[in-house]
Amino acid sequence: MIRQTKVLVVGQGLAGSVLAVKLLQNNIPFLLINDPSGVTSSKVAGGIINPIIFRHLTMSWRAKELWTTSSAFYSNFDKRKNTNTFNYTKIVRVFNESEQQKWSAKIKSPLFNQFLKLEDQVVLTHLPVETPFGFGTVDPAAWLDTASFLDAANDDLKKNDCVINESLDHKQLIIEPNRVFYKNISAEFVVFCEGHHLKSNPWFGHVPLQPVKGELLTIEANLPDFRMIINGDVFILPLGNGRFKIGSTYDWNDETELPTEAARESLLQKLRKILKSEVQVVDHQAGTRPAIADRKPVADFHPVTKNLLVMNGLGSKGVMIAPFLADYVIKRILGENEIDAEIDISRFNRFLT
Ligand SMILES: Cc1cc2nc3c(=O)[nH]c(=O)nc-3n(C[C@H](O)[C@H](O)[C@H](O)COP(=O)(O)OP(=O)(O)OC[C@H]3O[C@@H](n4cnc5c(N)ncnc54)[C@H](O)[C@@H]3O)c2cc1C
Repeated sequence: MIRQTKVLVVGQGLAGSVLAVKLLQNNIPFLLINDPSGVTSSKVAGGIINPIIFRHLTMSWRAKELWTTSSAFYSNFDKRKNTNTFNYTKIVRVFNESEQQKWSAKIKSPLFNQFLKLEDQVVLTHLPVETPFGFGTVDPAAWLDTASFLDAANDDLKKNDCVINESLDHKQLIIEPNRVFYKNISAEFVVFCEGHHLKSNPWFGHVPLQPVKGELLTIEANLPDFRMIINGDVFILPLGNGRFKIGSTYDWNDETELPTEAARESLLQKLRKILKSEVQVVDHQAGTRPAIADRKPVADFHPVTKNLLVMNGLGSKGVMIAPFLADYVIKRILGENEIDAEIDISRFNRFLT
């Protein structure tokens, strides 16, 4: 029997999950095919929403708008589902030699002072954290327990009988002018949310992905309770019950998804610089961030085949970007023609063969 639907979503990482939740909310019929085997970026992510890029002390891409849309989306999701995946928090930035001065200067700008604070609102004195050059806070910030969010979204999909657990074989897609067929499925549109696997997609392989491998540790340490995220050269994210996530690394060359001894050592070394406490590593994970060369996401129709779309390039800010991008994809599917040039696929037309 043919299953007729409007949208076929491929992939259930953060991109596909958020899109699926929004399609359900908008009563747009869809089916989602996802390969659940293996580690993905979304399953291992730190899940932090930080509107600031510490390395250059700049605002991240469209930070104000994306903070508003993402925090509203995830808190609303939790409220409706009675889950607890999204947490408002603050990030304590442990300064290096030159940061305090830059931070003080940035705070004066109206763009930054919504998020950056200098005053000592957070008491670090009960923690064995070294802050020789002081610290500032990013407030508000948040973190999403991504694994729990993906599970909760998947429960919803199962209840609505719209998820298929398998790897989509691109060769079996039959594309006609107004419909796409895949096995017993007939859809108007296919949206590929395949993370770094987009590289082997026959239609969107020209999008210049620069995948970035990242590794994280889960440690146990005997520390007093605290809720904020501490960030020096690594972040310390409290998970409760004496457990903390420590992350993360950035590697543009290693194409495997296996945890490495070198990354574990590097994370521990950086951790020791700020945290003076014995720690025990209880888990070590790796994943690949789907980043695009120009560090902006992409959400658009294929330049030629107009019933195929892509939603990708979430990079290291997937939690914050996904809800905004999903809204945009839905608008395009519903026929709204207002183009957002920054996420338009035409910027890669020179790579089409
Ligand atoms: C170590 C690390 C730390 C991170 N920390 C943060 C953070 O703190 N904050 C933040 O915002 N982001 C963070 N990120 C980035 C974030 O994880 C990504 O931006 C985001 O998860 C990407 O989601 P995605 O859905 O595009 O891709 P993915 O998570 O890779 O999901 C793609 C899905 O598609 C499926 N798929 C692919 N091809 C097919 C096919 N042909 N058929 C069926 N299924 C298919 C895959 O199996 C997978 O389930 C981190 C990433 C890493 C690796």
